[in-house]
Amino acid sequence: MFDVKKIREDFPILNEKVNGKALVYFDNGATNQKPNQVVNSIVDYYKTTNSNIHRGVHSLSQKATEAFENARIKIQNHFNIGSSKEVILTKGTTESINLVASCFTSIVSKGDEILVSALEHHSNIVPWQLLCERTGAELKVIPMNQNGELEVDKLDILINENTKLVAVNHISNALGIINPIELIIEKAHKVGAAVLIDGAQSSPHLKIDIQKLDCDFYTVSAHKMCGPTGVGVLFGKQDWLNKMVPYHGGGEMIKEVSFEKTTYADLPHKFEAGTPNIAGVIAFGEAIDYLNNIGLENIEKYENSLLVYAQKQLLDIEDVKIYGESDKKAAVISFNIEGVHPYDIGHILDQQGVAVRTGHHCTQPIMSYFDIPGTVRASFSFYNTIEEIDVFVSALKKAIRMLK
Ligand SMILES: *Cc1c(COP(=O)(O)O)cnc(C)c1O
Repeated sequence: MFDVKKIREDFPILNEKVNGKALVYFDNGATNQKPNQVVNSIVDYYKTTNSNIHRGVHSLSQKATEAFENARIKIQNHFNIGSSKEVILTKGTTESINLVASCFTSIVSKGDEILVSALEHHSNIVPWQLLCERTGAELKVIPMNQNGELEVDKLDILINENTKLVAVNHISNALGIINPIELIIEKAHKVGAAVLIDGAQSSPHLKIDIQKLDCDFYTVSAHKMCGPTGVGVLFGKQDWLNKMVPYHGGGEMIKEVSFEKTTYADLPHKFEAGTPNIAGVIAFGEAIDYLNNIGLENIEKYENSLLVYAQKQLLDIEDVKIYGESDKKAAVISFNIEGVHPYDIGHILDQQGVAVRTGHHCTQPIMSYFDIPGTVRASFSFYNTIEEIDVFVSALKKAIRMLK
């Protein structure tokens, strides 16, 4: 049974006061909160297990290594990844995408095309621009329509024999739109192009089956899934990972080093140079357990009920314009009030304890498309409630009264 009251007991931060008001945290798209189980696992690790991994013969190091590798297996199972060799631990989605873009330097050349979508986060645009600058390849963009949906009828022209890689997000962080990635993957594979899916926004809300999706790369940020910051995942198919030269050189990623020649460690360690965020990875394993105890299907259903309720309340308010009015949406509402700057709304909401994101959400091309400076974004998590939406809506009405 999904019991939000009980769930909230695991998140002490939800009882914090902000500006003298009860916190209503609706900035989950930027990062979500961490339950006690995750926080405690970080503390426990440093109190009982701290030592470096994969190095020492001593027992503590073995214990740390085991806990770290156990978290990798949890990640593998959670996302239904075929082999633990395909689970590269990174700092987050940004690093995961940069890793692939950097390693594709020797795979891509002049005349090739990299395809992204109009809905991408800057971290799924800029690394590809850098790759294009290094190689002479060309960046192409799948356009979107006024509802924030990708124009899939253009795919057959955009995905062609020059396309080397297609990089799209599963869910847009700015608008919450769920993209038709199955279709994109199928069309890309027909021309032999690789597909990278930015899963930073989908992994907190949906059950992801990577083998079923059959994408070539998939990226995750732990901190958006109740895990710590500075931890992420890059799934990559072994065929690609074997073809790619290492991203970073250093400890952990080598087999043998001499000044004449260095050989690389086996997957996944080949892409994991240096000492990782050991406690963070272990805590991410806890976060995955936590989410699975509730059940991603339950989370998705509950969050959707919050979305439907909030959307209805907002549309009842005059002058509210919601961006991305698709029926394929995660629990994100991006909106503006006619004639009011989003920052001013965000500021007055904050004074009333309501945390939302305002601005361009690292997606300036989307804001340019709608010709706006930014939006107010309310993004929900499974620990939010209908009552909190009511507080948010009346705070918003107050802000509108003050500003208009
Ligand atoms: C948050 C986010 C990113 C960046 O993730 P980091 O954890 O900051 O590296 C990339 N893409 C999308 C869609 C995001 O929501």
